[in-house]
Amino acid sequence: MYLIEAYVTNASLNINRAFTYYSDYEIAKYVRIRVIFHNAPNLAIVSSCRYTDKDLNEICEELGFEIEKVIEVVDEEPVISQELFELAFWLSRTTISPLISCLNSMLPKTLKTSKAYVDPKTIRKIRKINGEHTFTKRQKEVYDQLYDGMDASQARKISVSIIKKLLDMNAIEEYREEAAFENSLIESSAFKQLTEEQKNAYDSIINTDKMVSLLFGVTGSGKTEVYLHLARHYLQQNKEVLILVPEISLTPQMIQRVKERFSDVVFYHSELSDQERYEQYKRIRDREVKIVVGTRSSIFLPFHDLGLIIIDEEHDSSYKQDNVPCYHVKNVAFKRAITHRGKVLLASATPSLESYTRALKGDYQLLELQNRINLSFPEISVVDLDEQVRKHRSYIISKVLHDELESCLNDHKQAIILLNRRGYSPIIRCSDCNGVLMCTDCDTPLNYHKKENILKCHQCGKIYQVPDRCPHCGSRELLYYGFGTMKVEEELHRLFPEAKIERMDRDSVGRKGAHEKILKRFEDHQIDILIGTQMIAKGLDYPDVTLVGILNADAGLMHQDYNSAKVTFDLLMQASGRSGRAQDEGKVIIQAFNTNHYAIKAVLAQDYNYFYNIEMNYRSKTSYPPYSHMIQIILSDLNDERIIRSAKYLYEQFEQTDFRVYKPYELGKIKKMYRNRILIMDKDLLKMLAETQKIIDEYIGRRNMSHVKIDVDPLYIE
Ligand code: ADP
Ligand code: ZN
Ligand code: ZN
Repeated sequence: MYLIEAYVTNASLNINRAFTYYSDYEIAKYVRIRVIFHNAPNLAIVSSCRYTDKDLNEICEELGFEIEKVIEVVDEEPVISQELFELAFWLSRTTISPLISCLNSMLPKTLKTSKAYVDPKTIRKIRKINGEHTFTKRQKEVYDQLYDGMDASQARKISVSIIKKLLDMNAIEEYREEAAFENSLIESSAFKQLTEEQKNAYDSIINTDKMVSLLFGVTGSGKTEVYLHLARHYLQQNKEVLILVPEISLTPQMIQRVKERFSDVVFYHSELSDQERYEQYKRIRDREVKIVVGTRSSIFLPFHDLGLIIIDEEHDSSYKQDNVPCYHVKNVAFKRAITHRGKVLLASATPSLESYTRALKGDYQLLELQNRINLSFPEISVVDLDEQVRKHRSYIISKVLHDELESCLNDHKQAIILLNRRGYSPIIRCSDCNGVLMCTDCDTPLNYHKKENILKCHQCGKIYQVPDRCPHCGSRELLYYGFGTMKVEEELHRLFPEAKIERMDRDSVGRKGAHEKILKRFEDHQIDILIGTQMIAKGLDYPDVTLVGILNADAGLMHQDYNSAKVTFDLLMQASGRSGRAQDEGKVIIQAFNTNHYAIKAVLAQDYNYFYNIEMNYRSKTSYPPYSHMIQIILSDLNDERIIRSAKYLYEQFEQTDFRVYKPYELGKIKKMYRNRILIMDKDLLKMLAETQKIIDEYIGRRNMSHVKIDVDPLYIE
């Protein structure tokens, strides 16, 4: 008989240990098995298997509990390598999250240990069949939601019976996905000759003994070209290369630039279907491809000999996962680089304070690209909105920006307008009782979306009819305050009726692929003015863009968060870097109320060091990161009394440590869930992790407590 140790999925319990099962035959490590857990079937990953000549009764007596038999072995081969399995343990320790949640974050969905597991080989897709079809109203509704290449299982989620009907009447058909991938070798002629600065950075990265280098290069300095040359070098050494990019920057343009140079690349990102992800995962596992360009989760791909990990825009917040496990990709990259004896290249025009500090200290190799390729910096000016409102009564598009837009359009150039707020009006207030219309499930004001004529909660997505009376006092005097991208769009249409104007934000790119289509139109100059949220600030490289306007540039500075100045600075620097990327000189106009803030001044001067010094001084005085580490504990609960009790209990536990502990703080409700936050700070991260783990283990073992989420080194405080 064999004794099996295995990790079982169970979302309701934070169980961080293996369970014991038995089997009559040997089972390989890291394959999945089907077992009974809490009287229900479940999947588990085998972590060890050992032979015993004792019989079941003896074993159970020895263990002191009954053990169950493995029902069935699911996989022929291990689903995870030893390295990645050990990485999961490390991830679990360093993020204080359940091991199984780490495993689930690391594996593509078709390999996850969920109960709804489907064998990837049986996944089928559907496509529409052309022809005249007569539908009932409901059939038509379902049919319209289907698209070619949709997972059949996904389609059936809409309605099993109607899908069956549509298949029967030959309106759609099912087919097996054929995993046909072109498989050619690397190399091509598109590589540009590196400038001296670029070449110097390139050589230094290859030759250094340091594991980590920081490439601090202004926007447009040709960082991407350096990555691609480095990638070629490591591929020629027969090593693997991973280029990590922020969530939104895997644009057609970026993909194009990589494809021009390497014909066989894995692009790994969240837009892929489960099946596509699984296919790409296999190509790496089976050593078919050696270069990956991808977002956060590609750090977990099953590499064999990873020579170089590049993290583009290393300061970007999409590198930190928001839900459990709240890991930062950088830490995982360091860990994997140690295992693989590879190197890590962090790159940014606005490095994180931590990375830059480490580079200055010499922990990382610091490399700089100070010049833009073939071009000068854009001319940046700031418009004081207080004055605008006083003089011109216009605060959406200032006089200066209006004039610049006009001449930009006259020259047949393109403009980007950034406003980090979507919707039409963010606040609706009653002028009689001053009450604000709020979401019933969240402590969040409702946003007016004029086009659909609805109110929308940007926190939970809930949609409301526009009321004609104030729900608090019944008055009809409802006033709409402030503006979002939709209102800017309307305003620009009014000011420039001839111009082709489009908007890109979460509302307009909701559908898959919409994002690419808008950018493609922009590239083809079918759009003159592109309005958008932070989505449009990153990585776009369009030569005809000569004007960038940033509206309410200081809005982010109003947040009380410790990191808000840095986030604002990064966004403004990035956005201004979109202007004047070719021969034509670029202009940037920043509209703000608080024009004297050091973040705005630093952007005007395009001076990272100026910002860095002031910000670090503030961080040092307050002991905020990078001068200390933080652990943020977020409790959530439908029950308002239990959450107070839970928070009080946890706070008391942490008070007994020597960390700095902030009192429980009530956060706004989201989706009917009350939320509470406890924050601890200290310089010694390892000690914090160890003691927090202990406190949390005990907490989880108690009954009737609130749900807890742990965020180690949060990028912002909730
Ligand atoms: P960054 O990533 O630093 O913002 P990019 O890599 O996008 O900068 O480079 C800016 C522009 O300069 C791109 O259009 C790129 O093709 C071009 N470029 C980069 N390096 C070179 C080079 N060595 N020779 C000519 N053009 C280059
Ligand atoms: Zn009212
Ligand atoms: Zn809501």
